[in-house]
Amino acid sequence: MQILDGKLVSGAIKEQLALKVAELKAQGKKTPHLAAILVGNNGASETYVASKVKSCAEIGYNSTLLRFEDTISEKHLLDHINMLNENPDIDGILVQLPLPKHINEELVINTIDPSKDVDGFHPMNVGKMVSGLPAFIPATPYGIMLMLEHYGIDTKGKHAVVIGRSHIVGTPVSILLSRNTNPGNCTVTLCHSHTKNLKELCLQADIVVAAIGRPEFVTGDMVKEGAIVIDVGINRLPDASKKSGFRLAGDVKFDEVAPRCSYITPVPGGVGPMTIAALLKNTYHAAIGQKGNQN
Ligand code: NAD
Repeated sequence: MQILDGKLVSGAIKEQLALKVAELKAQGKKTPHLAAILVGNNGASETYVASKVKSCAEIGYNSTLLRFEDTISEKHLLDHINMLNENPDIDGILVQLPLPKHINEELVINTIDPSKDVDGFHPMNVGKMVSGLPAFIPATPYGIMLMLEHYGIDTKGKHAVVIGRSHIVGTPVSILLSRNTNPGNCTVTLCHSHTKNLKELCLQADIVVAAIGRPEFVTGDMVKEGAIVIDVGINRLPDASKKSGFRLAGDVKFDEVAPRCSYITPVPGGVGPMTIAALLKNTYHAAIGQKGNQN
């Protein structure tokens, strides 16, 4: 069994990007600039945004963090997004989800200029991705593909079972894995909360992608010997022995599943860091005027 080390791979991607940014600067070109919007005080969202902003600084990008109370009106938030859309110094815009209930997430996403939509959630980018055109690909699925590519994992002809059909993870991963690309060319089964024979399907999988949001949902008896397991889940479980009061658990019961796998991502340190690396790649492409990456 080999661990797919997201920290290591994202570190390598960040190093490459740092060199490219240094080149841009040396040529007198624009420094990539990411704007992040955080609404409210959700602990997990704060952590994610802080890592994204910190990673920008590490590789020489500029970043701007706009923080708002969760009482912000929808109109006020949309006005701020429009200002970022019009600001030529801003290359990428990300709005950390989830948003408070009184704000229409779809409207917010649709307001972001698609050429600055480095999270890849705007329908224009989703449509292009589905059509196989250059587009900003949502960071978590893109990060998973970069991880498979880095380890040279041959996915061609493999049966991938994706559990979860969210717009940000499960659905785009299923599309990317099924495309005629490398990695890609999988036969994909997309499972969700109404799937009846989940265990049976998982046992047929050469690749399992778990994006459910339920701690340790995928157990050892659901995974066939030699499978590749990608655990997207980040769940906080109460743990009095930790200073933070919680520990992180994936959607996969690691201790049971890992011994059966050929490759597996840990939580933390697997898909999480790859998501940030992918976001930074998207931001670089936005800054150099490439409307999305080519894969
Ligand atoms: P979501 O709640 O939007 O979607 C969960 C999906 O799981 C749904 O499509 C649902 O149909 C499916 N599901 C729920 N119960 C099921 C069951 N019993 N059987 C089969 N399918 C079931 O979640 P999401 O936003 O896709 O996130 C999933 C997990 O990934 C969460 O833990 C989230 O924190 C994590 N996540 C991690 C990253 C990262 O960077 N590592 C990024 C995004 C999300």
